[in-house]
Amino acid sequence: MPQQTAHDTILELRRVSKDFATQRAVADVSLEIPRGAFFSLLGPSGCGKTTILRMVAGFETPTTGEVWLNRQRIDSLPPYRRNVNTVFQSYALFPHLSVQGNVEFGLRHKKGTDDIKRVLDVLKQVHLEAKASRKPSELSGGERQRVALARAIVLEPDVLLLDEPLSALDPQLRKQVRVELRDLQRRVGVTFLFVTHDQEEALSMSDQIAVMNGGALEQVGTPREIYAQPRSRFVADFLGAMNWIDGIGVRPEAVSICPEGRKAVVTGVTYLGSFCHIAMTLTEGGELIAAQVPPGSTLQSGQTVCVTWNSVDEIHV
Ligand code: ADP
Ligand code: MG
Repeated sequence: MPQQTAHDTILELRRVSKDFATQRAVADVSLEIPRGAFFSLLGPSGCGKTTILRMVAGFETPTTGEVWLNRQRIDSLPPYRRNVNTVFQSYALFPHLSVQGNVEFGLRHKKGTDDIKRVLDVLKQVHLEAKASRKPSELSGGERQRVALARAIVLEPDVLLLDEPLSALDPQLRKQVRVELRDLQRRVGVTFLFVTHDQEEALSMSDQIAVMNGGALEQVGTPREIYAQPRSRFVADFLGAMNWIDGIGVRPEAVSICPEGRKAVVTGVTYLGSFCHIAMTLTEGGELIAAQVPPGSTLQSGQTVCVTWNSVDEIHV
């Protein structure tokens, strides 16, 4: 095997499109995914995320374009000849098998002498060695997900494909599992291609994010880049709340309420725990939302205030 550098490309899509009978699901997408990265595809429902994963896994064939994995062209290989693995939303664990049995099942095509040791190593990596003999029904939602991950990584895939894996969990657990999943990916070092429609999820977990819209790529960058320097109105709006004033974007958290600035009338104050949303109408016309830390905002509807923001926080698209 040739020596690999830390930042080489493990998975590449070259001008990939996918047409179904009545529509183009993926439109001319080119992507380079670095080895070892936590890479997310982010976009609204129906934008083509799952279709991309299915083309990488081999469950769909691109209409045009090429898929390369580890410097080998794979787009016409059957799924079992591609060294990728998928973690589905539903985890698809076997209820009658133990945790260890479920993970061993992942090795069914690759029986070797080191199997047991390998399974135990992976269980350790996902912090489930103490629960190896439990059944899935005796685990929490987060633990079940770790079994699904262990079963996928025991085969040492080049890329692990994860299609909205957190959407089955309740909101409280989701936030906790985000951190766990991110740490696990770092520890194990497997490249993740992670699909989500949740911008917070993508921002908090990813090394890089590809934002999709209507089958096409809008922007690829680090979480900070796509949040702070969106290149289109779509990306700016999809990544979080945005005020548009004279064609310039300003995030609610960048808006200050202070003694001087543009005049506005408060139209609503919403308490959200860690911050408040202040809705306002600018005297010059237009709506504006500010996000403020609660103790500071004793504002009331009908009150006239002044608003300002730093020009460095303006987003021009
Ligand atoms: P996402 O995962 O981002 O929600 P999908 O990749 O599942 O989006 O779907 C993209 C578009 O392609 C959608 O409009 C969907 O209805 C369509 N689509 C997906 N799979 C098929 C299929 N097998 N046949 C026809 N249309 C499909
Ligand atoms: Mg999908």
